[in-house]
Order: sequence, then structure tokens, then C-alpha cells
Amino acid sequence: MVKVLDLHFQGAERVIASFLLKTPQGPVLIETGPESTYPQLVAALRAEGVEPEAVRHVFVTHIHLDHAGAAWRLAELGATVYVHPRGAPHLVDPSKLLASAERIYGHLLKPLWGELRGIPPERVRVLEDGERVDLGEVQVQALETLGHASHHHAYLVEGLLFAGDIAGVRIAPGPVLPPTPPPDIHLESWYASLDRLLALRPEALYLTHFGPYGDVEAHLLALRQVLEDWAGWTLGRLREGLDLEAMTPRFEAYWREGLRRAGVEEAGMRLYELADPPYMNLQGLVRYWQKHHPERLREG
Ligand SMILES: [Zn+2]
Repeated sequence: MVKVLDLHFQGAERVIASFLLKTPQGPVLIETGPESTYPQLVAALRAEGVEPEAVRHVFVTHIHLDHAGAAWRLAELGATVYVHPRGAPHLVDPSKLLASAERIYGHLLKPLWGELRGIPPERVRVLEDGERVDLGEVQVQALETLGHASHHHAYLVEGLLFAGDIAGVRIAPGPVLPPTPPPDIHLESWYASLDRLLALRPEALYLTHFGPYGDVEAHLLALRQVLEDWAGWTLGRLREGLDLEAMTPRFEAYWREGLRRAGVEEAGMRLYELADPPYMNLQGLVRYWQKHHPERLREG
């Protein structure tokens, strides 16, 4: 029922996925990828015998550009875009999102992520936690799963969990790593989301970065472990008084060593870097500690 569409982000395989479900109500997409890979999305749909105009329902896990950047393109063709309540205003008016992306990416914004336009409000449908969308014989249920972003849903479809970024990044045969970019990282929420997914016991996790995994429990526990490790590492360096600039090369070396120990070679590291850049992970974790636990920075 599920087709994993590889969007060949930056010419690479297995970095960003979109998922096609064929339902009695026609083709449905979960995740759109960025606008920069929209031509690849269209090509991948056509390879499945689906014209982009035929897609009436598009679910995005959150509004980060690698997940929802092309949603406006499909809305322009008549699709309804389903999103978390806090994500919806930014789909309608992406100016704030764009400004913050510009601060991060500068002149690389457009080459990396493409163009971003607003979606007419009547094409955006907000989904509350637990809400189900009935698509004939198929139901899609939204599960609020915060921690990576403050506007994140995972989607449960027939026991399969489309996890967005909450279940991490794993590019087989490599390990699972958490995407922890600024500004929303909140570890307590993330751990609660992982507990929720563990209790749910889905049959498989479909990761946007990248693809399906059946070893759900081991995967989620491993992710929690890496989150704790990275957060602890970052707190340790902050307590030593290091600033972000001094910390970055050290974190990159630590990141690289972790992947190397897990058996990932240079080419694989490049894919992880494209999907989940380590310097950005460090920025998000530093911000988390400074914003949510400033008292911990001063302890012995
Ligand atoms: Zn994200």
C-alpha cells in the first residue's frame, strides 16, 4: 500500500522521502519534500502512474522545509494540506518561516530548498491530536509528537507510523540519530513522544530520512540513548565554558566517531550530513540547555 518515493535531494539517494498511499479516495501523500525536489516528486509520482493533479490529500508531519516545502505546489493543484494547529499559520503565510530560514541558510536558501509560497487558508486543514481522517477504507490518525518541533504530528495508518523527524534519521545500514536543530528542541517532550510511540507498538516506522524499519522498539530505544548522549555531551562542554564556535569542530569529531564506530563509511556520513547536519544539531542542543535549563549550566 505504501510507496517510498526517493526525492534525490542534492542528487543523493535515501536522504528525503515522500510517501504515496493508494487509497479508495485516490492517491494520498505523506510529506512533500522541499520545493527544490518538486520535479523529482512529480517524476516519482508519474512512475507510479499518478498525475500530481490526482493527489487530493497531503499530510505533512511538520512545516520544516525538507518535509513540507512543496506542499503549496500540490495545494495549487487542488490538494488539501493537513497539518498540526501550530504549523498551519506558517503554511498560509510563510514569511516568518522564510525569514528564519534565510538567517540560517543565507544565499544557500533557494538552491537548497527552492521557492516557498503561501497556501490559501481553504486548502489547509488543521488536525488536532488523535483526530482521524477517513479516506474510504483507510484512516489516517494524527498523533501530536513534540520535542523535535513544537508543531509536529506523526501519522498512524493501518498500524504503520509515518514518523516525520520524531523517530530520528536512519539511513540503512547506519544507526538512528536525532535531528536536533534550533529553535524548538525540547528533550522532555521528545522523551514523552518516544514513550507514546513505544506504547503504541506500530508495526513499522516510516522515516522521512529514510524509509521503513520494522525493529520499532530497538530503534526508538537507540534513539533515546543517542539523544541523551548528545545532550549530555553538549551540557558538559557548556559547563566547561566553551562557546558554540569552539564546540562545533569537537562535536563534529564526536559525531563522526560515533558513525565510524557504527560502521558507517565516508559516503554514508555524507548522507547523514545532508539529512541532519551535525553543526545544526549542536546549535539546537545548546539552545535547549540555555533556554530551558540555564541553572544546569552553572552546576559543578
Ligand atoms: Zn524537522
